[in-house]
Amino acid sequence: MLEAHARQQMIRIAHLCYERHLLVAMDGNLSSVLDDGSILCTRAGCHKGFLCDDDLVVIDRTGAKIRGEGVPTSEMAMHLACYQARPDIRAVVHAHPPIAVAFTIAGVSMERCVLPEVVLTLGAIPTLDYRTTGTGDLAALVGEHIRQHDAVLMDRHGAVCVGNDLLEAFCRLETMEHTALITKTAQDLGRVKDLPPHEAERLRSMGLKRYGGPPSAVAQADLPGADLPAACMTCSDDESKAAGEGPPSPAIRMAQLRAVSEDTLQSALSDAARFGLTGAVGSGETELEQAVVDAVIQALRDGR
Ligand SMILES: [Zn+2]
Repeated sequence: MLEAHARQQMIRIAHLCYERHLLVAMDGNLSSVLDDGSILCTRAGCHKGFLCDDDLVVIDRTGAKIRGEGVPTSEMAMHLACYQARPDIRAVVHAHPPIAVAFTIAGVSMERCVLPEVVLTLGAIPTLDYRTTGTGDLAALVGEHIRQHDAVLMDRHGAVCVGNDLLEAFCRLETMEHTALITKTAQDLGRVKDLPPHEAERLRSMGLKRYGGPPSAVAQADLPGADLPAACMTCSDDESKAAGEGPPSPAIRMAQLRAVSEDTLQSALSDAARFGLTGAVGSGETELEQAVVDAVIQALRDGR
């Protein structure tokens, strides 16, 4: 890619990262490989929403500056580790997508198979253990995992996404955050249903063959489970549950009820009475539910 074109693309993608709320202030950094093997990257301490041509510097594979104003960010070591790990990588985008990062802070893994299109294109997204930002330790950890993945999350920090060019790396970043938003919304609505393991395996195998991916992952396309982690293959051993058929089991509903304080429960019951809902008692099922609620209230009292 001509350097002039690479510069234009980097500025456009940096603006998009800011406009799409994938980073704020001086967060994040971008890089891409130029035709002569040198690396175009963003300088330290520049706002990606206002990135301009003067904010770009060219470095060599050791990180030494060749030309441009300012210095490359200390996080550039992560980019160099990615290029060193995989010669097929031509661009790296690092940002701080808020919902995906919140998953790491809450200790909720994104390494699961929920959305078919994400399984096809990205597979499972791992969260790397916490390391101090800007250190060689973190760069080494990112390089190690990027061998197997095109997108990774760093605990309490952000995302590193790679691609053949900046647009592809950006698409992976956007997909990661969109997946986090959909998963969080589903959780807010009740629960997150994983894809049945055999379907996740089929999709992943198909995706690696159709769209490619890390060479080490593509090599596993025809193996059982493809490159998916064991957790995805055992996330559900009951297909009807994974497909979301039927209500939660009585045990789960009881556990959910048990987590509610007695005051909340009593106020919900009086609300129900106010709206005449208890007037529905008469069918066997409603009587049974009432008996369960009575038993739970009794259990709550006994538990004090
Ligand atoms: Zn960062």
